[in-house]
Amino acid sequence: MNETELIERAHQAAQHAYAPYSGFAVGAALLSSDGEVFTGCNIENGSFGATCCAERTAFFKAVSEGVYDFDAIAVVGGKDGDFTSACPPCGICRQVMAEFCAPDFKIILRDGENVQTFTLSDLLPLTFSL
Ligand SMILES: [Zn+2]
Repeated sequence: MNETELIERAHQAAQHAYAPYSGFAVGAALLSSDGEVFTGCNIENGSFGATCCAERTAFFKAVSEGVYDFDAIAVVGGKDGDFTSACPPCGICRQVMAEFCAPDFKIILRDGENVQTFTLSDLLPLTFSL
């Protein structure tokens, strides 16, 4: 699966976003090391702290199915259906990635017509770990 295909899967997942409060839909497509793709969308809640991001939804789906090794994640998102700007993962999601992924794990974003690829260590240096 190439970066463009993974971004497309993330875009499809964003169509399921439950975002009645922010209007900001996000989709993620997580590629496991054995080639399986787990998608996720953001799921908001009237008790805002109960909201879950698209990236964590994808990770938790995968882990709950016994998959722990990952190569990359594509993330797209935007307000009111505008997906033209890059949507980098929030800090909590970066920390979840650090729990399961190596520093060279790829984070793929779409910014307009451009694809930007970062490593986890680019976006979360000095990672906390026990
Ligand atoms: Zn997040």
